[in-house]
Amino acid sequence: TAKEHGKNRFSCYTREMDEIAHARLRLSTDLRQALVRGQLSLHYQPVVNLKTVTISKAEALLRWHHPNMGNVGPAEFIPLAEEAGLIAEISHWVFCEAVACAKESNQIAGRIVPISINRSPMEFLSDSTGSDWLRYLSEMDMPSSAIIVEITEGLLLHPSPSVKDQLLRFAQSGLLVALDDFGTGYSAMSYLHQFHIDYLKIDQSFIQDINVNLTHQTIVESIILMAHKLGLKVIAEGIETEQQMTFLRQAGCDYGQGFYFSPPIPSTIFQRMLDGNLH
Ligand code: C2E
Ligand code: MG
Ligand code: MG
Ligand code: MG
Repeated sequence: TAKEHGKNRFSCYTREMDEIAHARLRLSTDLRQALVRGQLSLHYQPVVNLKTVTISKAEALLRWHHPNMGNVGPAEFIPLAEEAGLIAEISHWVFCEAVACAKESNQIAGRIVPISINRSPMEFLSDSTGSDWLRYLSEMDMPSSAIIVEITEGLLLHPSPSVKDQLLRFAQSGLLVALDDFGTGYSAMSYLHQFHIDYLKIDQSFIQDINVNLTHQTIVESIILMAHKLGLKVIAEGIETEQQMTFLRQAGCDYGQGFYFSPPIPSTIFQRMLDGNLH
């Protein structure tokens, strides 16, 4: 009967939820081991200056090679790391790796290529970072402008005093700040001038169909004009075709990243690319 049917579906559903919960628990146990066992790595995606078509900077993106599951993406395991209380440790490791990569770029290419790192809103809950970062940079004999911190719009909408304080300290210490995935959140532009932000990163969802979607063309052109008037540089994310790059260049976009130039790649390959003086 329909009633039994419904019952069965319900019990199936809970068993499935149970399995998902167990899988998550297993995964977070594995994640705890991942750092010490060297299963985490950073890939670097070049960010290209659209006027000169040379590599200007790079974004560090976390990769986890799980022993039996293969590659697990950051969109899946970053939330796990946050729940499991591992995010601070992971993100400290990311920071140190990124500084090392910037330092190596200076040795190889003779110029410091700034590296951007992603920082999720939850990482702003703890107040500890900042001074230890600056200490590490000076130990490594690197300027703070070698690191760009990527944050998301949501953080700025109702910022706590601690968030405001940390962003102010970033600015005062010379760390650069980029607003990631711009346009997908609240986009209440009035908050932009309240914070010291250096780069706007236009979300890839606007770029994907930029050559055919007139609304997205208008939005992107307006973002670029506004950003420039506010003294910010613009980075377009997710450029996959030459046509997209051409549109963005003509619209005056400063920088771009995407599969058209290069996917995220291991540090050794990235350094070799710099040595060859662009792609
Ligand atoms: P995000 O910061 O917006 O990073 C851009 C994402 O777009 C990356 O996905 C990148 O691989 C992908 N991408 C780059 N070019 C293209 C393109 O041309 N086409 C398409 N379709 N995609 C492109 P990924 O590496 O899977 O990272 C996903 C998200 O995970 C990141 O989004 C970021 O929010 C987060 N994440 C990555 N690494 C870290 C980290 O170290 N810490 C924290 N807190 N979050 C991280
Ligand atoms: Mg990012
Ligand atoms: Mg992004
Ligand atoms: Mg994103």
